[in-house]
Amino acid sequence: MILANKKVCKFGGTSMADADSIKDVEDIVKSDPTRVFIVVSAPGKRFKDDEKITDLLYKAYDTKSDCKAFSAVFGKIKARYDEIIKDLGVALDLKDIYAEIEREIKASDAPYYSASRGEYLSALILAKYLNFNFLDTKEIIKFDGEKNFDSEKTNVLAAKALSKLENAVIPGFYGSDEKNRIVTFSRGGSDVTGSIIARAANACVYENWTDVDGFLTADPRIVKNPRLIDVLSYKELRELSYMGASVLHHEAIFPVKKAGIPINVKNTFDKTKVGTFIRPAAQIEHGDRVITGIAGKKGYSVINIEKSLLNNEIGFVRKVLSVLEKYNISFEHMPTGIDTLSIVLADSEFKIPSQKLLQEISNAVTPDIIGVSTGLSLIAVVGHGMAHKTGTATKIFTALSDENVNIKMIDQGSSELNIIVAVDTVDYEKAINAIYKSFIGRE
Ligand code: ADP
Ligand code: ASP
Ligand code: MG
Repeated sequence: MILANKKVCKFGGTSMADADSIKDVEDIVKSDPTRVFIVVSAPGKRFKDDEKITDLLYKAYDTKSDCKAFSAVFGKIKARYDEIIKDLGVALDLKDIYAEIEREIKASDAPYYSASRGEYLSALILAKYLNFNFLDTKEIIKFDGEKNFDSEKTNVLAAKALSKLENAVIPGFYGSDEKNRIVTFSRGGSDVTGSIIARAANACVYENWTDVDGFLTADPRIVKNPRLIDVLSYKELRELSYMGASVLHHEAIFPVKKAGIPINVKNTFDKTKVGTFIRPAAQIEHGDRVITGIAGKKGYSVINIEKSLLNNEIGFVRKVLSVLEKYNISFEHMPTGIDTLSIVLADSEFKIPSQKLLQEISNAVTPDIIGVSTGLSLIAVVGHGMAHKTGTATKIFTALSDENVNIKMIDQGSSELNIIVAVDTVDYEKAINAIYKSFIGRE
């Protein structure tokens, strides 16, 4: 049977965590015959202090030369899958596969292979349980020698493989390079795999099944019961997920965006809810919505550079950036004033000590004053509605000053899609709640 309206479904770590949640997955897949291509994550946490299989697999790689430590970690991984197999009642014996994985981890010289086995084993089990085909992403998702994802080669290979299958369970998170060695995306990357498969299958929708009702207006771990976003644009999604809304990986939009396929984020544990749709901006009625959502990330610093008549000095910014380039440092934002330039960096980008970096910048541009503020968090307020509404920035600043939160940096993208502020990390949660209450919160 050839279906015109195929759906691609990605189930995340909580959906694959144990046999009970996998039975929910089965219900969802079997209730709709168009749900034919199923992308899965590795088992995630079953309770608050539980361990994710992917974290255990990174640990297994790190302990590979310490026999006792490795056996303890690898034992936990095997026990977790064995319990799922037993509770589901599937006839699958993974003994030989475990032995091969153990051998390969010990022979590997990077953590990619080890990390990828969580999704691989999840997909093997679900394929058997649903009686679906198993399609290994090693054969269809391609990276180059520098471990950069090759989208077009992948699309050709994946489209060809999918066209031959009526259905398939497909492991998320990894692919392989030109020498067929496993490469993974960054953490949370099964969302990207789902999007790649949706594009290659020319799906009518990419359903991303997770453990919340959809994309929420703020992180539910920070704001109590945040309102659901019923629809948002690809661009808004990109801004929010890049800035910390971890429900979807920030690179997950690119493949579906190319094909104009909507994403529908849905709750595995409450499948009756409609969830959130992510579509091209042109298809969305914004109404009087000013902001769509709020997101944020901790762990930033700002280098502040001051020099009189800086704006007249041709090449000033280039010289500063060439110091960053020399050390392979990427920056997040660079707001400027007439005599000032600020560079916002994630703390992980300080690949040399900050004093050395400041010295090198000083040597390059001889500023009057240079310094660094640390311990900052960034908060992004995102929405297409901002472009048509005056006073959004003022409203943010008032909300923050009413709560005595000091703003350390402000940056507004030229698209008027977002306003980003930096605050001291101690004020992070308070600041997000204040902005939420001011724009979205129900009285
Ligand atoms: P999965 O394992 O299904 O991929 P993730 O843990 O990666 O799930 O993402 C879902 C989690 O993202 C939610 O449980 C929630 O805590 C967190 N989250 C952060 N920001 C948001 C947001 N704006 N909307 C919804 N969830 C969010
Ligand atoms: N299992 C991987 C992780 O924990 C990928 C994913 O879940 O999307 O990051
Ligand atoms: Mg995820």
